[in-house]
Amino acid sequence: MKTYRGQCHCGKVQFEVTTVLDRGDRCNCSFCSRRGAIMHSVTADRFKLLTDEAFLTLYQFHTQTAKHYFCNVCGIYTFHRPRIAPEKYRINVACLEAADLTHLKIGLVNGAAYD
Ligand SMILES: [Zn+2]
Repeated sequence: MKTYRGQCHCGKVQFEVTTVLDRGDRCNCSFCSRRGAIMHSVTADRFKLLTDEAFLTLYQFHTQTAKHYFCNVCGIYTFHRPRIAPEKYRINVACLEAADLTHLKIGLVNGAAYD
């Protein structure tokens, strides 16, 4: 278990996650397939937003369950609360600093089944 710091491009959105960074997932739903990020899930107690919520823009669609957050200054997707597990945070692994992504096992979430 390790603590990683993550941020958007401009730095207005910063967060911390404590996790074993061993896997990442893509999702094939109508939204994620366009976004193209590789994501990693953590429970809410292992996620901490370090900056003001005012810099986050929320996007929702379809069932309005998932909450997709973006930096409202630079537009980077940082994390979201997934529809299938709204109690968790799924983070954009590309936002993590000093994280070795070369050993990530990449999976696919079949979000398209629920579009
Ligand atoms: Zn930003």
